[in-house]
Amino acid sequence: MSERQDYVPRRLLLVAGGMTLLAACGSSGKDRTASGEPAPTGSASGSPTAKGGPGGGATPAPSLPAVQPVATAKEPEYHVHAGDMEVALTFDDGPSPTYTPQVLSVLHQYNVTATFFMIGTNVERHPDVLRQVLAAGHLVGNHTWSHPDLRTLAPAKVREEIERTSEIITRVGGGRPPILFRAPYGNFTSTAMAVSASLGMHPVDWSVDPRDWSRPGADAITQRVLTAIEPGAIVLNHDGALLDPGETEIGGAADRSETVAAVKAYLPRLIASGYRFTVPDPAR
Ligand SMILES: [Zn+2]
Repeated sequence: MSERQDYVPRRLLLVAGGMTLLAACGSSGKDRTASGEPAPTGSASGSPTAKGGPGGGATPAPSLPAVQPVATAKEPEYHVHAGDMEVALTFDDGPSPTYTPQVLSVLHQYNVTATFFMIGTNVERHPDVLRQVLAAGHLVGNHTWSHPDLRTLAPAKVREEIERTSEIITRVGGGRPPILFRAPYGNFTSTAMAVSASLGMHPVDWSVDPRDWSRPGADAITQRVLTAIEPGAIVLNHDGALLDPGETEIGGAADRSETVAAVKAYLPRLIASGYRFTVPDPAR
């Protein structure tokens, strides 16, 4: 825990000191075969409901710590660079009161640290789940407020999506601004890159995508991860979803039970193969 708590400020200092280096390794993550996430539906159901201040609440938000802007990267990070057998597990679209705790339980069983890229609307609905994730020593990243395809939005709207999410993650999480940003569908626009950097975040994509959101079966997800894994991989999983009105987390398109079962299956096998687990590291 103490190591985890030290992590963010140290990295921020390094970054603020201009020591950030663009990763020297190539971005073979571009070779990935899939867009990685459910296709944008065009539904407006997920758009922010209030044009007012962050969080949309009636009570004034407490002042938040100032963020340290970082240099705008040319492209997102597709790999981790912590060591010969290091990989990173990432979980998108939560927090979910149903599946996030199940993922946390599996990670705890194997003493693995992961990164959770959260949607602002879901943080607003389930702030306690974000706190559970942080209390367990994991990293929380920004995955926009309502999970839009950022290519379709005007710059001001892109900023609102990202800024509002950093604010709620910071507020709910006890004052630590997120330092990682992942664009929905991996669509990192130049505006999104600039905005996230201005808010102190580094863009992180993925290199292994089992398309778990499409619910191909836990065995298929497991096999896809085990087949594609390699040192430095960033693995995309989904512990949550943006729910349509009336949609349930269980039994429908938002059901993530296959993902949970797959993590239970592939994690011990990756460990047995010698893999170790880290989080995307902006300072490398
Ligand atoms: Zn997503």
